[in-house]
Formats: sequence, structure tokens, C-alpha cells
Amino acid sequence: MRAWSVVAPGPVEEGSLRLLGKPVPVPGDDELLVHVRACGVCRTDLHVAEGDLPVHRPGVTPGHEVVGVVAGFGASVRGFPVGERVGVAWLRRTDGSCVHCTRGAENLCPASQYTGWDADGGYAPYTTVPAAFAHRLPGGLDDVAAAPLLCAGIIGYRALRRAALPPGGRLGLYGFGGSAHLCAQVALAEGARVHVLTRAAAARRLALELGATSARDPNDLPPEPLDSAILFAPVGDLVPVALRALDRGGVLAIAGIHLSDVPPLRYESELFYEKELRSVTSNTREDAREFLALAARHGVRATTHIYSLSEAARALTDLKAGRFDGAAVLVNDLA
Ligand SMILES: [Zn+2]
Ligand SMILES: [Zn+2]
Repeated sequence: MRAWSVVAPGPVEEGSLRLLGKPVPVPGDDELLVHVRACGVCRTDLHVAEGDLPVHRPGVTPGHEVVGVVAGFGASVRGFPVGERVGVAWLRRTDGSCVHCTRGAENLCPASQYTGWDADGGYAPYTTVPAAFAHRLPGGLDDVAAAPLLCAGIIGYRALRRAALPPGGRLGLYGFGGSAHLCAQVALAEGARVHVLTRAAAARRLALELGATSARDPNDLPPEPLDSAILFAPVGDLVPVALRALDRGGVLAIAGIHLSDVPPLRYESELFYEKELRSVTSNTREDAREFLALAARHGVRATTHIYSLSEAARALTDLKAGRFDGAAVLVNDLA
């Protein structure tokens, strides 16, 4: 098969990602072989391709928002017939036995492995996934609509829970890409007032269309103090900005896997009055189940921009340049 491969991490517009010949993967004993139909494009793929994240597997095929169908499986797999539609997400494997796994925090497992970083992902016609980490997808969502839910959606959902938004609360979203626009829909469906703070005019328009109360530049204050905020933009300079926008007792959650350095914080205006700063690390399978059920119930929909799988490098370049709002999805044209 022909699959995208990170040949030398660096600027994606300079060819760090190449379409190369690779063998169709053979599923391990507990794994499914998945024929890829669509794969979402996540900012983490850009971090993998550009070397913002350390190399875990040389020549890795990125992609961890995969919708496909089961094309085969290992000897110990039960319950996934050939032809069943499944989703493949970022969290690929944990040890299931460490202190974090046994406390229901498998997202913190030190032995965790990730699709499209530790193992080849969905920028290819075929990929594999441990059956225990494959997601069953709600009906009524086509392949392209379902793909961005598998990372952008799930992470946005975990970030929303980490931000501890009280019922009917005031939520600020800093940055408004794939993850944030799905998170906003869940928050709005649950009765929140949502304020979006982002530089891109197109993203501000999308925010207002989806029902946000306000949409402003990130360096402006929102029109009311916030109970909770989520930082989606990978910009550490926005941490103090968002902390200052919080009301007393407010919580700021940082959703990204990668953030530029956070400048020194001023205790009085940015942390005192029991403001809290939290990070978000990956997600659990339980987060995924909860979010996929909520997304189906509330009709959460990604605004998608379709590229063919053979255009993956261009999709990542466009993501980097902010050329689209919502989420890009690659549709398999590589057979
Ligand atoms: Zn563990
Ligand atoms: Zn992702």
C-alpha cells in the first residue's frame, strides 16, 4: 500500500511527510486490521510531523481519528465481525495494571501508547488497533462527520470536564479550531453561556453561528467574568490572559498536548482567589464512550473540510496556516 510517513520531522511545507510504499500491516493477536475510510486531521499530527513531539517510531504514519471497517483480526479477538464500522482514536494501549489504570485514570498510564505516534495510524489505506481500544460508532453519523469526533471531540469533552464548568456557567474558549467547536456544542447543549476568544475572523463567525454569546480577539476581555476557560490555542502567552478573565474560583484547563512556554504568572491577579490551572492529558475510553453518546444525543456536528488521503501533506500545511475553520478530514483515495 502507499502510506504517509514522517521521513524527517521538520516543517511540513518542506516535505517532512512523504507518501511511500509500506506493507499492509498484520494485526497482532489482540488487534483488528482496519480498512480506512476517512481520517481526521488533528493538530497533534502536525506536532508529530514537525518534531514538536519526540520521535517514538521512526517513519511513523500519523493519523488518529480513523473511521474504517474491520478487514481482519488476530486470533484472540472476539466480537468484531469483518465489515463492522469502528473508530480508532489516539489512546492505543495501556498496561491496565498501574496505579493510574486501576484508579480509572488510564490516560495517565506511564506505559500508554498512541496511534500515529507509537504505532502507524490512519494516513494510510489500512491500519491496526487493539480490539479493546476500538470504538463502536453511533449510527446516523457518516464517516466524515464521525472522524473529527474521535480526537478533537473526545479531547474537547475531557477538557470541558476538567474545566469543571458549573451548571449554566460562563465558559471561555481560547482558540476555536476542530476541538473547540465540538466542545462548544456540548457546553451549549448543557446550558452554558459560551464566549469565544480567537484571532481568526472566520472562526469568530462560526462561533456565533453555533450559538456563542460573544466572539472577540483573545487579548480582549470577555463581556463577563468566566467560571471556566479552556485554552485550545497552543500559545503559552494566553495562560495569564485567560487566568485574568476568570472570576474568583474559576478554572482554566489547557487542552493541548503541546504549549509554548508559559510566561511568569502574577499571583495577585492571575492565581489568587482560588483560581485553578489544570492540564488535560489524552483521554480515557470512558471519556470516549460518554462523548460519543452525548454527540449522538445532542447532534454534535463537526464543520468539515474534505481532502483526499493523497492530499494529507497539503491538509496539514493548510491547518498550520489556519486556512480553514472546523476540522479537515481525509477521505481514502489510495484503495
Ligand atoms: Zn497503566
Ligand atoms: Zn488528536
